[in-house]
Amino acid sequence: MYLVGKINVISALPEKFKRLNDIACNLWWSWNPEAIDLYREIDLDLWEKLGKNPVRFLQEVSQKKLHSKLNDAEFMKRLDDVVSAFDSYMTEKNTWFSRTYPESTHKAIAYFSAEYGLNEVLPIYSGGLGVLSGDHCKAASDLGLPFTAIGLFYKQGYFSQRINAEGWQQTCFNDLNVSQLPILPAQDSNGKQVQINITFAGRTVYAQVWKVQVGRINLYLIDTDVQQNSPGDRALTSRLYGGDQETRIQQEIFLGIGGIRVLDALGIHASVYHMNEGHSSFMGLELIRKLITEKNINFQEAKKVVENSAIFTTHTPVPAGNDVFPLYMMDKYFGDFWGQLGLSRHDFLDLGLKKAEDQNFNMTVLALTLAGRKNGVSELHGAVSRDIFSDVWPEVPKNDIPITHVTNGIHTLTWLSPKIKALYDKYLDKDWKSKIYESSTFENIDNIPDEELWETHRELKIKLIEFVRARLKQQKLANGESMEAVRQIDSFLDPDALTIGFARRFATYKRANLIFRNLARIQKILNDPEKPMQIIFAGKAHPADGPAHEVIKNINDIARQEGFYGKVILLENYNMTVARNLVQGVDVWMNNPRRPLEASGTSGQKVCINGIINFSILDGWWCEGYNGENGWVIGDETEFDNENSQDNIDSESIYDTLENIIVPLYYNVNEKGIPEEWIRIMKNTIKSLTWNYSTDRMVKEYTERMYLPAIKGSAIVSADNFSLAKQLSAFEQQMKANWSQVQIYAEKSASSLKDYKSDSGHDIYLTAYAKLGAIEPSNILVEVYYGSLSNGSIVNAQAMEMKLENRADDGSYKYSINLKIEDGGEYAYTFRVIPRNPNFINSFDTGLIRWVE
Ligand SMILES: *Cc1c(COP(=O)(O)O)cnc(C)c1O
Repeated sequence: MYLVGKINVISALPEKFKRLNDIACNLWWSWNPEAIDLYREIDLDLWEKLGKNPVRFLQEVSQKKLHSKLNDAEFMKRLDDVVSAFDSYMTEKNTWFSRTYPESTHKAIAYFSAEYGLNEVLPIYSGGLGVLSGDHCKAASDLGLPFTAIGLFYKQGYFSQRINAEGWQQTCFNDLNVSQLPILPAQDSNGKQVQINITFAGRTVYAQVWKVQVGRINLYLIDTDVQQNSPGDRALTSRLYGGDQETRIQQEIFLGIGGIRVLDALGIHASVYHMNEGHSSFMGLELIRKLITEKNINFQEAKKVVENSAIFTTHTPVPAGNDVFPLYMMDKYFGDFWGQLGLSRHDFLDLGLKKAEDQNFNMTVLALTLAGRKNGVSELHGAVSRDIFSDVWPEVPKNDIPITHVTNGIHTLTWLSPKIKALYDKYLDKDWKSKIYESSTFENIDNIPDEELWETHRELKIKLIEFVRARLKQQKLANGESMEAVRQIDSFLDPDALTIGFARRFATYKRANLIFRNLARIQKILNDPEKPMQIIFAGKAHPADGPAHEVIKNINDIARQEGFYGKVILLENYNMTVARNLVQGVDVWMNNPRRPLEASGTSGQKVCINGIINFSILDGWWCEGYNGENGWVIGDETEFDNENSQDNIDSESIYDTLENIIVPLYYNVNEKGIPEEWIRIMKNTIKSLTWNYSTDRMVKEYTERMYLPAIKGSAIVSADNFSLAKQLSAFEQQMKANWSQVQIYAEKSASSLKDYKSDSGHDIYLTAYAKLGAIEPSNILVEVYYGSLSNGSIVNAQAMEMKLENRADDGSYKYSINLKIEDGGEYAYTFRVIPRNPNFINSFDTGLIRWVE
């Protein structure tokens, strides 16, 4: 048939339902189940059919359904309640931030991330990093931070995953339709949609900007799909991690440099710039360029300003997670840029080279170089990051590498099942939601009767099983499997059986198929007639990661074998919807990465709040979260050089713990059929972990340790026409110019270690001499650096400032200290000199350090 034209009819909303549209356009609804319930109740089928997307729902809902609800007094009352909850959230003046830091409420914190996982309707995330950014934004809104987020609008999002009949992953992309999403044009002060442009590689590329409202904060998304651009440039931002390196560098130019231009166009003057992962680190270069051209200061001075306002969070110790660009590509895209910074090509490239001879410009190194405050995402990951990036500060001991950590968390209300939330509402303080970050909030978890918690958990598990079966049916139908095979799915998964969940990106270090290393042994565990077990898997593989595709295929093949069929389930298209169902409905959440490659991991945090128990490698957050009574561990803290033996030992540990501890405990029920001991661990999980691994705790920590010092620091260095920035820059230049004259030596330069014997707690008097050349003693710090002696080197090192005694005739300075060591043992010490300036963010940022030679 020949179609003459297309007509789009948008449902007219009765006046009383207009506010439902305001709510649909603000992702606030996504963590407020009472709001979601309203849409569901108007037309559940349509709600599900349209992918639980309220914007689209209101466009397509029938007038009849809407009008029938108008006469439903009970519904209208709840609509009123939701609207007033939304309004009071949006206009609340008494937030945690405004209460605690009233003097900073007019400041602006800008947050940059390549992906955001806010809700499934907006699939512009690939996995944990994106979900973390989304959760960070939601918590920033809840806590009332003056916060603006910047990202890219991927019109085709991240890929959807299909797993074909042979078990191979297939990818597909769909166009998102802006008019059907909670996205609005970002407007400038004249009401026009904000546009930016960037000139690189001999052409100018344009972009428009969209706004996503996330509660009280806005996320701005940059989109190059505009008329002025060539077809190639229009597609530049269309896919997340979809293109080649050339696409990637251009996307990152738009994210970093474009992001700053978006803030300018919107009139947002940020004091803090948070780079969430290195994708956005070109931003620091743009900030410096602007300072140089607008404020008439030089590169070094501008860099001091940027160091004070920029924060960098690194998210992965896996090399593939760190973006690098070949130098010829840097020449192509930045050939016109370094001149504007007053830098030579060499000095410019040096900002992003891990080592001088490196052939790749490393975005993580650039971020580490430009940001004054830097962190990993768990305690262990902080340490690992200090190690892998230690060559950015070659002489600085690993412990002193200026990278700290802020452990990740999750947005509690996003991942909490409404049913468990109802229990919290019933048994915790009324205002528990406004103090999620406090441990005392969850102390009353023990008041929930075991029966009630267990019954709720069981309902959630049944809901999950129904969800999984429905999805599996679609999966099998799409693969053309027989009706018989589809019908069999109804007998898959037993609500009474111990159910393990395993879902995350299928990167090989996550070892998704580790539990199948000894097939006979796991088969026996799964098929115990009295105490059966079942496992649900889900996850996407990066399209270019061949070995990860093999892992999917392997699990798929096992799931089809006798003894595993119906008990090992591989669900396709892991996304936030699948994640939400899994983290609310399984019994145990398993995670077995190759330590220490899991920077934090967050899915295990999502399960805790629902009373689901972790069974994991002591890696990432679980290293900190596990307390002996709130879950189980796989293996121990040993790290192996040999992957094969690590896999053997860890898989043995999985089997042993399942057989001896987890399975028996789950089936150890009292006369009412309730596993009391199990429930005790569920409650310990909620009590000990919910508050600490929430983004409320995390964002509070970022605020206190990073954002506020950056607000303060950037104001101080910029005041009086950047006088302190200039001073600091001059100081640093002077130190660098004269540092070669600095020497430090012990009183008698002994060729072997000086041998002191001392009783515990007694003072040990140590002296050192420093030659400083043109440098004033007030500008340096002399320290004794000491710690236990192990294999000829110092471990668990500590440093203490030494006192200047006097100046000797030869011009050297004498320093001394009375060192007290309490614990007996063998110790060693040495001395060092570092620059000292009270306005340094970190004493080691200059990289200057002199040791006794
Ligand atoms: C939470 C989440 C992740 C991250 O899980 P990890 O345990 O950190 O690997 C990845 N993908 C989705 C869809 C998630 O919801």
